[in-house]
Amino acid sequence: MADEAGDVFRRAGVVDQHRAVAALRAALGAPLHAYLLVGPPGAGAAAAARGFSAALLCPAGGDGTCRDCRLALAGEHPDVITFVPAGAYLSVGDAADVVREAQRSPVEGGRKVLVLHELHRVQHAAPALLKTLEEPPASTVSVLLADAVVPELVTIASRSARIDLPPLAAATIEKALVGEGVDPERAAEVASPALGDLERARVLATDDDLARRQRLWQSLPEHLDGTGSTVATAVDELLEHIDDAAAPLRARQAAEAAALEERLAATGARGSGGRKALAEQHKRALRRQRVTELRFGLATLAAAYRDRLAADPEDPAAAVAAIDAVTAAAEGLVRNPNEPLLLQALLLRLPARSGTPRRASSPA
Ligand SMILES: [Zn+2]
Repeated sequence: MADEAGDVFRRAGVVDQHRAVAALRAALGAPLHAYLLVGPPGAGAAAAARGFSAALLCPAGGDGTCRDCRLALAGEHPDVITFVPAGAYLSVGDAADVVREAQRSPVEGGRKVLVLHELHRVQHAAPALLKTLEEPPASTVSVLLADAVVPELVTIASRSARIDLPPLAAATIEKALVGEGVDPERAAEVASPALGDLERARVLATDDDLARRQRLWQSLPEHLDGTGSTVATAVDELLEHIDDAAAPLRARQAAEAAALEERLAATGARGSGGRKALAEQHKRALRRQRVTELRFGLATLAAAYRDRLAADPEDPAAAVAAIDAVTAAAEGLVRNPNEPLLLQALLLRLPARSGTPRRASSPA
């Protein structure tokens, strides 16, 4: 039985994450009312939620092959309700929908699963959700996903069973890519810049522009001259590259959508549920791809300053301050910031290329 439950997670696309899978598998016998899956994009939280939903609804505890499993894994089970914040944050209206849905009885069996994506964007809607998560109908299990436990999420987190899905090791990503038929040399190249995110690694494997973007971020310390106009130009260029970076993902998504249409045509199914689920998944993936691309850029930039620090350990102040500023900006990404403002503020704080720290600006 245990192996079969493991299989449903593998079928859902979970790679590695043995600890998380074991915890979810152990929960199947007597599930609690809410689980919080915490992990960065592409580490497998969404896949784990899919596998867990299937296993919760499967009469055999997740054989991966029965009707319930197949529907849940395909995102088409009527008793798995998925919510993704439509805007930048989860609105109070979204939360009301979740609460209403949680109260409804299951359509088919004795249980219903609510999957709430990107709950780190919960902001002001947290209190509206809390009551439902604390006192749900006995038939409802909530599976909450978040990149990180932000302050607004702390109370919800305290009422849920937390399961962590850390970033995947570069070696795991490399192996998974090779297993999917990616050229081993290419797999080795992209494993590290993927930042623990297997979805990103798959996209990077078809991205010939990765090296150029990496160089752009690496060369930033050499270009900044302490003027606002240089910063403005640099920010425009970075954002343009981030836009371009979505091209391989868009191509991949177009192929997935075409494959779905082909399947639907072959089976004569209407498939509006599957189409909607795929479109939502794609939208989410594009948004997350931008954040990860920014995170990758900032990690590359921090590494460039670390190299400078190693090259000139006599005068560490400027490089240390720069690394701190870049790290703070990267941590701010979880809050869905305005990208141009975040980059402008950061680049203005970084030292001019002479290597000396910029004069502290007077308060505006
Ligand atoms: Zn099943």
